[in-house]
Amino acid sequence: MTWVITRLCSDCKDTACVEVCPVDCIYELTVDDTSYRNQLFIDPDECIDCGACEPECPWGAIFEDAAVPEVFGQDTEINASVFQEHSREEFRITPEQLLDDPIPEQVIENEKKWGYER
Ligand code: SF4
Ligand code: SF4
Repeated sequence: MTWVITRLCSDCKDTACVEVCPVDCIYELTVDDTSYRNQLFIDPDECIDCGACEPECPWGAIFEDAAVPEVFGQDTEINASVFQEHSREEFRITPEQLLDDPIPEQVIENEKKWGYER
């Protein structure tokens, strides 16, 4: 089992999840690759399935792999493939918060943008 960062994280990268991960397995890709969105990724081989990151995400972007909504179905594979297609030197654990927390209306707007309805 692993946890998955979905496209709801795109262009956010506020790093709230990074700060609580006990094994530092949440990464940012540092090289240009248009196959991947501008978001963070969980390495499924390193994730210890603790679930600590999920409640910290202000955008609701993190799901257990078995519970990833259908509309984000590809994101489980994307979190795995990015680590297969890039070397570890091409990732970093993002050091600083990039955005303030969203207000509820922004969270809903972001979900709508990606076709997600709770
Ligand atoms: S807390 Fe959520 S939105 Fe922020 S970087 Fe982590 S997954 Fe992305
Ligand atoms: S479930 Fe735990 S180990 Fe896995 S990414 Fe989240 S905080 Fe890290």
